Amino acid sequence: MPRRKSMPTQSITAAVLRAPGREPVLEPLTLEGPRPGEVLVRIAASGVCHTDIGFLDSGASGPVILGHEGAGVVEEVGADVSGLAPGDHVVLSFASCGACAECLAERPAHCENFWELNFGFSRLDGTNAYGPDVRGHFFGQSSFASHSLTTPRNLVKVDPILPLELLAPLGCGLQTGAGTVVNSLAVKAGQSVLVLGTGTVGLAAVMAASYLGAEPIIAVDLHPRRLDLALELGATHAVGNRGEGLGRRIRDIAGKGVDHVLEITGDPELNRLGRELLAPGGGMALLTGDSGPGELPGGRRIFGVIQGDAVPQRFIPWLIELNLTGNFPYHRLLRHYPFKDINRAVADSKRGAAVKPVLRMDMDEG
Ligand SMILES: [Zn+2]
Ligand SMILES: [Zn+2]
Repeated sequence: MPRRKSMPTQSITAAVLRAPGREPVLEPLTLEGPRPGEVLVRIAASGVCHTDIGFLDSGASGPVILGHEGAGVVEEVGADVSGLAPGDHVVLSFASCGACAECLAERPAHCENFWELNFGFSRLDGTNAYGPDVRGHFFGQSSFASHSLTTPRNLVKVDPILPLELLAPLGCGLQTGAGTVVNSLAVKAGQSVLVLGTGTVGLAAVMAASYLGAEPIIAVDLHPRRLDLALELGATHAVGNRGEGLGRRIRDIAGKGVDHVLEITGDPELNRLGRELLAPGGGMALLTGDSGPGELPGGRRIFGVIQGDAVPQRFIPWLIELNLTGNFPYHRLLRHYPFKDINRAVADSKRGAAVKPVLRMDMDEG
């Protein structure tokens, strides 16, 4: 019988959600050390995304650790990991298997194991490194914690000169909004873009569309403050989603229809409106909700998008470069909180007081 090696462990602090609807509480836990092909990262900061909030409210059964917009420093690498070493600064993005046909074709957001790896709260083999009682591995990272056990395919190496608390939210919401415009819809200069919902994802889409020279860029939202921000970030028109005649007000701006629609609200009314406003040959990307893809007359396309069809290791460095050259000023959306104030950050996001809350694990007072 082979001798059983004792597994090195790491003492960590994690925000544990004990039951849906309860507030997560910071708890000490013991995390396994990295197995072959795994990487231990000390988390410096983590964005709070809508998907986290959905799980906090209703999504998970049993105690879990959420968080999927981490950034930090590599602490330890397991066997068979190349290209990463302790001390490397990294942004954490979604998980993909690297072995299926979609991953081999460089479409990791379409990974055949995407659901299990990102929402299964375990490794692909069903094991869980966070203990018998609490499950982690959310999006392959569970970044609402002092440490994350993750994989190289989640990780994007970044310049250590850059502040990790600014980089953290690039791994999901910002990548999704910008990637949908750049990759999924392939927006071109002079084309019209309609963004239904201007949270982090919608505002990232506005900034990317503006960078590409789209016009008009029409932002729709309920919150006047978000619409003001959309105008500052590159929207040419802001339309409040209240009262009558939303479709007519958009037609007054876009004329015969819009070339590209991003539906980010999950609201069936806005979904229907987006379809109606689509110009011949236009495309509508659904970023939430389950109104399935479909074809409409005139070559109009409707399709669901995951993670902006991005390859994080290429797309996130590009977004950082855009930001550094002043073309993707996403830092204006961020509001930072000490890790212990996670529940205040979530509450601020829900009531619209913060567009993108970012938790800082190294910060004591907010
Ligand atoms: Zn795969
Ligand atoms: Zn997310």
